[in-house]
Order: sequence, then structure tokens, then C-alpha cells
Amino acid sequence: MSIVTERVKEIQNDIKKHSSYPQKVKLVAVTKYPIVDKPKLEELIENEILDFGENRVQVLEDKRELLGEEKNNINWNFIGNLQKNKVKYIIGYIHMIHSVNRMSIAEEINKRAKNVKRVIDVLIEINLSGEDSKEGYEESDFYKDLPELMKLENIKIKGLMTIAPNTDDEEKVRASFRKLREIKEDLNEKYFNGTLSELSMGMSHDYKIALEEGATIIRVGSKLYS
Ligand SMILES: *Cc1c(COP(=O)(O)O)cnc(C)c1O
Repeated sequence: MSIVTERVKEIQNDIKKHSSYPQKVKLVAVTKYPIVDKPKLEELIENEILDFGENRVQVLEDKRELLGEEKNNINWNFIGNLQKNKVKYIIGYIHMIHSVNRMSIAEEINKRAKNVKRVIDVLIEINLSGEDSKEGYEESDFYKDLPELMKLENIKIKGLMTIAPNTDDEEKVRASFRKLREIKEDLNEKYFNGTLSELSMGMSHDYKIALEEGATIIRVGSKLYS
């Protein structure tokens, strides 16, 4: 068995072991690394992993090119900071955008989606790390924008996404995942009437913790290839 297949099975086992609702959990294979060539993509597909995640539009388009017609069988997930001027390139096919992190990008996605008569599934990325990065909404800014976000008819907010703080302190990581789940529960109660279903959280080194805290989508890259 080669490495990708071995890793997929390992991660699927971990999902069963660490999640309390394994049948709801989706593995998004992050394919953004240069090491991910056509044979690796095809090995993922052979293992029925059909959700791929990319964080740059150009690399995403290169991966699609690499796959040829097979690209149409893939759910393409955008997981990085999206630039407004790149939205038009992906709007026709993108399956889910995990990283809506400001009003202006939500408006651009909405406008472009309307042009192509699509409603795009999105997640709101929340920055819970306390780190001063551009990745994700500050929680308070998000609540401020929420009424306007909910008016956008061509995006459908399906849930939340976060990246854990960059630390070896497992309790800090766990606390940020737990916080994301609590925000989702609060939103479901106050604004979404239970329709928020997704929690996209957990990467190679922390997905087990994320599963224990209720992740429905894990985004795993490096572990799949090494
Ligand atoms: C790269 C990336 C991942 C995957 O990270 P690994 O550590 O390689 O598993 C997940 N989410 C986002 C947003 C990323 O940019």
C-alpha cells in the first residue's frame, strides 16, 4: 500500500475513534503542496476522497488542469485568504469557500455568484487564536457584520471555520475549537434556527482534538503525503 492510501485509512480510523458522529465528518484533502502531483491526486480519488482544498487560486487552477476531465468529479474547497480580484475565476465551479473573513469578500462572492446564477456555500472564518493575523474575522467584528452578511442572497452560510493557535499547548488548541463550537451553537439559537451545520477545524497535527470537539470537516494536508 502506498503512503497516501495508508494515510487515508489511518485518518478515517481516527475519525471513527475521535468523533462522536463519524458519519457526519468529511475529510478535505489539502492538495496545495508542490509534492502533490497527478498520481497523488489520483490515489486520493481511488480512495474516494473527492473533496480537495486549496488556498491559492492559481495553484487551484493548476491542480484542475493537471486532472483534466477528472476535475469535474471533485468538490473544490477554497480554504485560504481570498483576494477580491480572484473570485471571478473560481465562482463557476467552487464547491465551498471556507474562508469568508470580511464583508468586502462576502459581497464580491455574492455579486459574482449572482452573475452566474449560483448560490455558494460558505463558512465564516473566525480568528480565535488571539494572534494578530489577517486570517479570520475577530469575533466581535463578525457579529457586527452578521446582519449584512445574512442579507446576501447568493451566499449560503453553512457554518464556521478556524485555524488553531500555533502552539504545542494542547489545551489552548482544544479551547479554540470548543469556542468555535459554542459560537456556532449561539448563532444557531439566535439567528440561524439550527441551519448552521458545519465546523471546519483541525489540520494534520490537531485534527484528533478537533474531532473530539465536534469538527464536521477536517482539512488535512501534509500528513497525507509523508
Ligand atoms: C495548509 C492548510 C491546511 C492543511 O495543513 P496541514 O498541516 O498540511 O494538514 C488546512 N487548512 C488551511 C487553511 C491551510 O492553509
